[in-house]
Amino acid sequence: MKPYRVLLVISDQWKDPASYLIADGGEFQTIVTLFKSWGIPFDILRLDQQVMDPNLFTNMHGNPRYGAILWDADTTGQILPQDFGVLADAVEKKGISFIAIGDRIGEKVVQDVLGIRYQGEHPHSSHVKVSAEGSFLLRGLNSDLDMGGPLLPFKERVQVISEHAQVLAAQGGMPAITERELSKDTRAIWIGGDIQQMFLYPALRTVLRRAVTEAIGYALVKTWTDHVILTMDDMGNAQNSWLEHWHYPTLTQEQIRKHLIEPLRSHHAILSLNIVPGFVDDALRRVVPSWQQQFVDAFGTAQDYISTKRGIDEGVAAGVFELESHGWTHMQPDLTSAPGPWWGSDVNAERSEVGWYREFFDTRRNREIPAAEQMFHLLQSRDWIKDQFGLEPLAFAAGGNAVSLSPANNTWRLAGEAGFGFYGGYLGKDLAIQGLANDTAEFGGSDDVPLVLPAPPDGHDRGITRDPEAFAKVFDLYPGHVFTGLDEYVGYMHASVRMATSPNVGAEKPEPPIIRLDISLDPHYCRALIAKGSSWHLHLSDWLREQIHPGRLKVNGIQTVGAAGEWTIVRFEPGRTENSLELH
Ligand SMILES: [Zn+2]
Repeated sequence: MKPYRVLLVISDQWKDPASYLIADGGEFQTIVTLFKSWGIPFDILRLDQQVMDPNLFTNMHGNPRYGAILWDADTTGQILPQDFGVLADAVEKKGISFIAIGDRIGEKVVQDVLGIRYQGEHPHSSHVKVSAEGSFLLRGLNSDLDMGGPLLPFKERVQVISEHAQVLAAQGGMPAITERELSKDTRAIWIGGDIQQMFLYPALRTVLRRAVTEAIGYALVKTWTDHVILTMDDMGNAQNSWLEHWHYPTLTQEQIRKHLIEPLRSHHAILSLNIVPGFVDDALRRVVPSWQQQFVDAFGTAQDYISTKRGIDEGVAAGVFELESHGWTHMQPDLTSAPGPWWGSDVNAERSEVGWYREFFDTRRNREIPAAEQMFHLLQSRDWIKDQFGLEPLAFAAGGNAVSLSPANNTWRLAGEAGFGFYGGYLGKDLAIQGLANDTAEFGGSDDVPLVLPAPPDGHDRGITRDPEAFAKVFDLYPGHVFTGLDEYVGYMHASVRMATSPNVGAEKPEPPIIRLDISLDPHYCRALIAKGSSWHLHLSDWLREQIHPGRLKVNGIQTVGAAGEWTIVRFEPGRTENSLELH
């Protein structure tokens, strides 16, 4: 059985020479986002820093390390001199399946493996349409594969002729998706398309996901159809007390109960609160815990952060709130020097400048916040929230989305290093994706990525003070949806799924499993899955099912449902960090 791991090969798309931050946009960032979101394990090989070598593709026993190679390498880019014969050997001699996308097929070896010949690339107005009925790759898709994607007057059409591959889809009479059977369990698949936008088309994302199953034979995946993650910013922050154009009374326990907790409860929904645990105390000129504040502000408004805290506690106890980090103070680290001080200033003077109320980019002085200062604020936020609520925040969102972007001061990089698991994109020890500032990927709300939705009416506690009934209307706007939390999304993205090195374990000797996967849940990043359990899809290709006649599944050693079909739902019960899945 092929190992359950994909090698993503790129040329020079990864602009971070240290291979940590992915902020490059384009198909590379999209593919990494998709694979993290699906939970499909992968490594990245960058040909601008590494030379292809047989050892990249095999373990110390000479067996394949990967079930499939995903080829996203433009070999006309800035890459090291490469021997592409190594790639042909990995596919043809080691039996690693091969998937190439878009126009990344310029290399002759790549065309030879795929069984197609590259002719050129020109604009064309036609849609990509299914041409061979009944293929596994395109099963269940509309015959027009452009459905649901952007309507463009034309797209770059990569023009090929097929020599040894089956044409599954075509664009204006030319092959667009091809598949070649190299052996009974090895496939070479080309998903053609305009590399700039092909994955904005939902069908092509689905084809990519199904291609992994077809290439390896099986996949354990997470999909997010009709999943919404509600977020709300700002509870605990100082803007509502001091910034004239963002002025309002902090929510009381009663408001939180009536307008948030009750509707959430009755819809079995979760709201991720991005909260601010530190408050700038004018008299002391230092940061103090937000939730001790009870005063009448300079506008004559009574502020009761103690009541806000009680409301948050109540929602956490009811299981409807998750607490995430919105920074430590939502304020500049330097509130003293010119053009300040902000401390003690008049509400009609410096205090009315929104630039003071941003924490991770100095919007008052138009300069970045140095890395060490940002890191201090990130860790203070984490530690104070933990102290105040007994919960460590897993996701982060910078106040006002004001962030520093230089390599040294990059806010996403620092948040990832601080142990956060999400800020508009995946954050982890392996890499960080600089997600879109508004927390929503351009394909959020699809099968592939949940919709991260600022809670109505405005994604802030402020909106509830103005239009308290607006929040509950979200459940009418998204009927039948699952309102999950950021913690759960982080958990799936961080679950480690790998094929057991020795599937023939212990008492199973008389009848060893055909496939055994070990699913490890990190106690930090995956805590929501450990607490609530997790639910996945085991996806089997037609060719694998024909060859092995799978009969049944064992989840954590206990026999469960049969697995004769293409899809089987696999559920891991709560309370475990190590899980196993066996296919017999
Ligand atoms: Zn904010």
